[in-house]
Amino acid sequence: MSVEKNFFQEVLQTLENARPHLDIPEAVYRRMRIPRRSLIVSVPVEMDNGETVYYTGYRVHYDFARGPAKGGVRYHPGVTLDEITALSALMTWKCAVVDVPFGGSKGGITCDTRSMSREEIEKLTRRYTYEISQFIGPETDIPAPDMYTDEQVMAWMMDTYSMIKGYNVPGVVTGKPVSIGGSLGRSRATACGLTTIILESLAHLNIRLEGLRVSTLGFGNVGYNTARMLSDKGAKIVGVSDSKGAIYNAAGLDMDAVAAHKAACSTVSGFHGAENLTINELIGSPVDLLVPASVEGQINASNAGSVKAKIIAEGANNPVTVEADRILAGRGVFVIPGILANAGAVVVSYFEWVQDLQRFFWDEDEINRKLNFIMKKAFREVLELSKEKKIDMRCAATVLGVRRVAEAIITRGLYP
Ligand code: NAD
Repeated sequence: MSVEKNFFQEVLQTLENARPHLDIPEAVYRRMRIPRRSLIVSVPVEMDNGETVYYTGYRVHYDFARGPAKGGVRYHPGVTLDEITALSALMTWKCAVVDVPFGGSKGGITCDTRSMSREEIEKLTRRYTYEISQFIGPETDIPAPDMYTDEQVMAWMMDTYSMIKGYNVPGVVTGKPVSIGGSLGRSRATACGLTTIILESLAHLNIRLEGLRVSTLGFGNVGYNTARMLSDKGAKIVGVSDSKGAIYNAAGLDMDAVAAHKAACSTVSGFHGAENLTINELIGSPVDLLVPASVEGQINASNAGSVKAKIIAEGANNPVTVEADRILAGRGVFVIPGILANAGAVVVSYFEWVQDLQRFFWDEDEINRKLNFIMKKAFREVLELSKEKKIDMRCAATVLGVRRVAEAIITRGLYP
């Protein structure tokens, strides 16, 4: 990962930057810097060739003072305990920023699923679920999809957990297929919420959406769907990237054609009618809005100086490092932090969990209306705090989230 420090240290630095504005007791602040519990598991999988491979999996509960822990499961070769801990801290504050009654967690397995068969991924998922089964549950910790996991992986997790319990437990994961208790609107929730936050930011900055030049880093669930929604509303998508490279066309890219090329070639690179670039070149290309939606630390001290965008909306979690944030702030770039910008997923996950517990399901209009309301309210609250304290949006979102977690910790008191 291209972060300047390790990822958890970066997150702690963000917390430290917010500290002067927090106004919470020192002991509570210290507790905010330590995860409640971390589990490391070995995940043996018999591969298609008969060989047994031992993968390493993680699940971290950062804090659950406000409710059951909530956080995604990531399958990626770069997964480490440090990364999962950092992401679990961000989840804790994110849930508090949008004021859903969850704590924060995260999980993952160090693996490269792109070189694994579907059967191997299913075995990996089921064994991982078994290994963390004492750690998860609808009242304790609720996983969801993240990078290289999807609704099928959630279906296997739900099924394995239900087999262990002996009855159906749909509320143990969110982001499931609708046929087994998933929520309408969940798969596009992050992009929907992100689009709402981008529209609110444009209104605040007095920038028109029509013709707005947009690039996304990452062309997966978040990157593709956000590009699609913004393009449908009149923005011009000029650049996109994935793990293999980037493409750019100042005249705009046809999203359907790029998606078809990606489906056929497994990469956006080589798309006719666009110039091939490196990801760093795309980061420095002429654009009004940049939406980083892949890995953390992609915008860092080495490339932040080249950014031309006026707005960065973090689809990914901490794609902008602390050092890059400082450089961008000096140049007046409006950076919307992931704990606000990409919170749409956890909001609709909350709706899914509520629907599962009640066994009563809502229609998509109701879900989108409620999502929109919560995202707009969170944006307003963060913006007002940022104006009141004269701090940037990341610092304001951190202050808002951490204060709410601190309030729950203080109100509950210290056990025993
Ligand atoms: P995804 O797997 O659907 O897509 C990931 C994209 O990132 C792909 O285009 C992939 O090619 C690219 N990528 C992967 N590794 C890369 C690398 N090393 N360098 C450059 N590009 C790379 O994942 P997603 O669900 O769209 O998630 C993207 C980001 O958004 C992640 O950071 C995730 O934590 C965050 N996020 C996702 C959700 C969600 O609901 N899916 C919610 C909140 C935050």
